[in-house]
Amino acid sequence: MRPYSQFTVASYLMAPTLITVSHVGSLLILITGLSWASILWMALLYISRAMATTVIYHRLITHKSYQAPTWVKWGGSVVAASAGQLGPSCWKAHHLAHHQHTDRALDPHSPYAPPKDSRGLYWSHIGWLLSPRLLPTKLPLDVESDLVLRLIDRFHFIPLVALGIISYFIGGVEYLGAFFLSTTLLFHGVQTVNSLAHIFGAQPFATDDQSRNNSFVALLTMGEGWHNMHHAFQASSRHGITIRDGQVVYLPDPTFRFVKLMEFFGLASKLRVPAETDLLARAKHREPAYVSSSL
Ligand SMILES: [Zn+2]
Ligand SMILES: [Zn+2]
Repeated sequence: MRPYSQFTVASYLMAPTLITVSHVGSLLILITGLSWASILWMALLYISRAMATTVIYHRLITHKSYQAPTWVKWGGSVVAASAGQLGPSCWKAHHLAHHQHTDRALDPHSPYAPPKDSRGLYWSHIGWLLSPRLLPTKLPLDVESDLVLRLIDRFHFIPLVALGIISYFIGGVEYLGAFFLSTTLLFHGVQTVNSLAHIFGAQPFATDDQSRNNSFVALLTMGEGWHNMHHAFQASSRHGITIRDGQVVYLPDPTFRFVKLMEFFGLASKLRVPAETDLLARAKHREPAYVSSSL
C-alpha cells in the first residue's frame, strides 16, 4: 500500500497526462510556424526550467550538494515544477530509488531492468512514467515535512499550466505551440540522463553500475550528462569531472557554474566537491599499454 492519498495519486498522474498533451500541442507550430521571437521564448523556457531541475531538484533537494536559503528552494521548485516532470517530493523519491538500486530490479528506470515485453531504451526513457513505477513506494521525509514543498509537490501541475497560459497571452497560439514544444524537448532532454547516460559513454570512475559520462547528454541537460562521475560522487555539486592519463580534467558543467554564481550572490554555500586525491583514487584502473622491455 502506498503511503499517500488518492489525491496524491491523481496529482502524480497529471504529469504523464500533461507531457502527452505537450507532445500533441507541439503540432500547433506546424500551423503557426515559429518566428525568431518565439524560438527565443522556447529556448528561454528550456534553459530556465532545465537549470531549475538540475540546480534545485537534483543537486540541492535530492543530494544536498550545497546549501541555500529556504526561499531559494521554494522558488526554484516552482520553476522546476513548471517543466511538467513532477514535484520535489516525487522527483526525489524516484531519484533516491535510482541511486539505491541503480541498474537493478528496483531501479525505477534502468535500461537494464525493464519489465517483460518492454525494451530497455524505451523503458528507461518513457515507459517507466507510463507504468505503476510512476508512483514511488515512499516519499522523502525531509521534503514531506516542509509544507511549502509538499504543496508544490501535490500541485506541481499548476506552474506548468500557468506557464502555458502566460505563453498564450504573450504571443497567442504561436507562443503556446512554442511552450508545448519546449516542454516536450525538455522532457526528452531530462530523460536522456536515465536512458542514454546509462548506455553510451565513458566510465572514467569505478562504480558498480552502468552509468556513463556522455557529452551529448551533458549538452542537453546543463551538465547532468557527466553521469558516471555523479554516480561515483553523488554528493558533489560539480559533475563535470573526468580522469585523463592519470590527471583530473574538468569538463563544462553549466549547472555547477550557476551554483557558483549563486554562491557569489550569497544564495548558495558549503558547495561540496571531492578532493583530487579522492577523484584519482576512484579512477578506473587500466592495464598498462606496454610492458617495460627490461622485464
Ligand atoms: Zn543514473
Ligand atoms: Zn543523482
